[in-house]
Amino acid sequence: MNRRGILFVVSGPSGAGKGTICKALVDNNPNVFLSVSATTRKPRPHEQEGVHYYFIEEAEFMQRIKDGGMLEHAVFCGNYYGTPKHKVDQMLDAGRDVVLEIEVQGAMKVRSKYPEGVYIFVLPPSMHELKNRIMGRGTEPPEVIDERLKTAAWEYGHITKYNYILLNDSIDKAVERFRAIIKAEGCRVERNTEFIEEVLRS
Ligand code: 5GP
Repeated sequence: MNRRGILFVVSGPSGAGKGTICKALVDNNPNVFLSVSATTRKPRPHEQEGVHYYFIEEAEFMQRIKDGGMLEHAVFCGNYYGTPKHKVDQMLDAGRDVVLEIEVQGAMKVRSKYPEGVYIFVLPPSMHELKNRIMGRGTEPPEVIDERLKTAAWEYGHITKYNYILLNDSIDKAVERFRAIIKAEGCRVERNTEFIEEVLRS
């Protein structure tokens, strides 16, 4: 089947495991491209420039928005985050599926531009577990943890705007479900009209 790539947008509360799931999904799957965002947040100790994020200053971030280089951007807990546009379109045009791991405000902006995209919300097994995961990460001070948990409560209010939930009870199971979603979405009639015509002509 020869078609344009599919855009998958993954949101969910901080600590739900979106990053780990997306990373595990793209490892060993060359047809899926995981977009690297730009942010004004400071890097965490293990984070690498160009791998986890492009870490830039606010002035540069603003310039990129002005130049039309961002597909979307949002403020999350006091920092800017945005998706570089060029690469996403390039990958989709080349037939590769693209995953954006972004928060809810940005996801809703993308949805208005790409209604044909697939919108997935990662759910932790419980709120208790979510809190444990954020605290266990040990990378944020208590007031930031608090803000992230409050933001999580706000984000849950938007679940109905997504197409799928992805329960993260275990990373392996969540990745398997994600793969199933990708497979099913690739088989949708409206994504394969040209292929169907080809088959009918053959
Ligand atoms: P963190 O600081 O934990 O890496 O990310 C905070 C939140 O920002 C997460 O929900 C993450 O998905 C989201 N995020 C990361 N990159 C982007 C982006 O490019 N755009 C938007 N809108 N959110 C992003």
